[in-house]
Amino acid sequence: MNDCLFCKIAAGDILSSKVYEDELVVAFHDIHPLRPVHILVIPRKHIASLAHVSAADEPVLGRLLSVAQKLAAENGSADGFRCIVNTGRIGGQEVPHLHVHILGGTKPVGPMVERN
Ligand code: 5GP
Ligand code: ZN
Repeated sequence: MNDCLFCKIAAGDILSSKVYEDELVVAFHDIHPLRPVHILVIPRKHIASLAHVSAADEPVLGRLLSVAQKLAAENGSADGFRCIVNTGRIGGQEVPHLHVHILGGTKPVGPMVERN
């Protein structure tokens, strides 16, 4: 049995506030939103991170971004948004299932990263 949290959310075995799903991807509100708009888009298929994709995953990678721009506009971030894909330990990834954060709202999201 797959023990991955986001696989369980994609399958509907763990509740989430889903905003979109199709045959390739699922999107839902982040449980701890960092901005007024904070949605996660994930592949249905388990892919551990962006460091684990191959050329065969290009259709789902494209879908993640095309769905992201549609959901940002539809969910209160029509004037722009930021997509973040935390990857691995250095990237600060906490959930080991590839996901795109969509962050937005009506005010600028803020600096990309803090200066060292
Ligand atoms: P990461 O740090 O891996 O890029 O981001 C993981 C994100 O998943 C975090 O923003 C966290 O709030 C969110 N998250 C963790 N567990 C759950 C959950 O059970 N439900 C939802 N909707 N979001 C979650
Ligand atoms: Zn998974």
